[in-house]
Amino acid sequence: MQYSIIADSYEKIEATTKRLEMTDHLVELLKKTPKQLIDKVVYLTQGKIYPDFTGIEIGIAEKLAIKALARATGQNEETIENSLKQTGDLGETAQQFLQKRIQATLFQQPLTVTKVYETLEKMAKTTGPGSIDTKMSLLAGLLTNASPKEAKYLIRTVTGNLRLGIADMTVLDALAIAYGGGKEARQHLERAYNISSDLGRVAKTITEKGIEGIKKFEVVINEPIRPMLAERLSSPQEILEKLGGKCIAEFKYDGERIQAHKVNDKITLYSRRLENITDQYPDAVELFQKYVKAQTAILEAECVAVDQDTGEMRPFQELMHRRRKYGVEKAVEEYPISLFMFDVLYSNGKDLTLKPYPTRHKELERIITQSDRTRTAEYLITDNPEELEKFFEKAVENGCEGLVCKSIAPDSIYQAGARGWLWIKYKRDYKSEMTDTVDLVVVGAFHGRGKRAGTYGALLLAVYEPEDDLFKTVCKCGSGFSDEDLEKLPKTLEKHKLTHKHPRVKSFLEADVWFEPKMALEIIGAEITLSPVHVCAMDVIRKGSGLAVRFPRFTGKYREDKSPEDATTEQEIIEMYRSQLKKVES
Ligand code: ATP
Repeated sequence: MQYSIIADSYEKIEATTKRLEMTDHLVELLKKTPKQLIDKVVYLTQGKIYPDFTGIEIGIAEKLAIKALARATGQNEETIENSLKQTGDLGETAQQFLQKRIQATLFQQPLTVTKVYETLEKMAKTTGPGSIDTKMSLLAGLLTNASPKEAKYLIRTVTGNLRLGIADMTVLDALAIAYGGGKEARQHLERAYNISSDLGRVAKTITEKGIEGIKKFEVVINEPIRPMLAERLSSPQEILEKLGGKCIAEFKYDGERIQAHKVNDKITLYSRRLENITDQYPDAVELFQKYVKAQTAILEAECVAVDQDTGEMRPFQELMHRRRKYGVEKAVEEYPISLFMFDVLYSNGKDLTLKPYPTRHKELERIITQSDRTRTAEYLITDNPEELEKFFEKAVENGCEGLVCKSIAPDSIYQAGARGWLWIKYKRDYKSEMTDTVDLVVVGAFHGRGKRAGTYGALLLAVYEPEDDLFKTVCKCGSGFSDEDLEKLPKTLEKHKLTHKHPRVKSFLEADVWFEPKMALEIIGAEITLSPVHVCAMDVIRKGSGLAVRFPRFTGKYREDKSPEDATTEQEIIEMYRSQLKKVES
């Protein structure tokens, strides 16, 4: 197949803004394409040579393309640069210069698609010293044999500027018409694409095996599955109604979505956008190796920054420090992560995407070894709106964004690449940001682990309520303590230690150690939030809920100048919550 056929189609596609016409031109091109080339032609129409998830790009810098063009046309680079300033498009400039080319045609061999594809592939894969020159020579070679029109599209392709505007879905439409017997085939093609993210493989399958082959299309390890997404509703009643009265509600962790592909010890990680992020998370790779029992698996997890000594989840912003190509080792140390697994799409050779969620969830629990750093997402199966609301508050207070409520109906398959009603997210409409510090009283503590073994992992803190002379818990806090603080705390608190909860302390939580309410600490939090587990302001804002400080952190200030009765009062927390309550933008 001649490359000129492709170039002619590009020209027609470029000339229209109507999607239907664009599809027609694409259908015509795909029909003209021999079967063995169909995947390559599909990649080329997208300006690529491989699917995105491979990360292989042709990636020729404009400067290098100018050099190649100069060599192929015998012009100097400056002249080409001047023309580029006028056209603003190196493709256009290439076309003009090739038209002016004198007498080179004698040695010209027509470009075939195979030749073009293979040369582009070589360009993409050439690395190391001298690779720039090699790439330039390869491109110049192609341009020497190209017609002006071909040169235009070649240059645009190699510099990443093809931009024909052919969406993935248009390619699927065109394949349905060209090889699937009509538009009805589209849904099957779409599913095949959604579970492979590889338009080339989809095209190859339909040309070789027809629509039946597409219907049998299965998940393959190391081809990322396009993520299933959630719709949103803002009340537990609506959510339960939409999900048939009952659902499985899971914590919506606030981190980065990771799709892990496992073949024995080989782990590949993909981001929500299906980029290969394996190198960014060597610690996650290790966790998947160690704590996933299946030999082969595709799993989905939310990767969250977690303080490994206290088990507390850290705000999303901390995880952003992990988004880097260099200094990964240091970031792994500074910002440790935990994995919360929430789906399994493939396990021990079986595609599970068409199985209902309860089946997948059971398999997930079967193949994950729960550990400090790897666990299945916390969940609750419920048909009760009140219970759902409480679970939601608990999730938020623990540092999650809210809940993802999932259908447990027989049709609750994994809808790859779709935002549908089988998953419904429940996030806050309002939140109350904390702008000021509070002074809270230490009433209990929890034992630490890891680096904090032998000292306290977190303290249980309370506000003061003067009318009944009570201390009511408002948060657990393990952040902001220096090594020195951690050493000092058990000693300082020793004299206030009790064998039971102090009678003036109100707490639903069972601390490991109780104290007489004596010591006040200055604390800053991110927000004040509703909570079913803290006593402060219980039933004031909402029945069955109290208020809690979310993401609390010790500022370093021991309020020795304050008696416990001078600490922040329950009423002050209520006022802070009310006055700072704002609608969440989303
Ligand atoms: P958002 O900004 O709300 O995360 P989104 O468009 O990225 O939106 P949605 O489909 O709306 O994604 O929400 C689901 C997201 O929540 C997933 O992409 C995933 O990263 C995250 N998540 C956290 N915990 C879970 C869970 N238990 N189940 C499913 N998704 C979860």
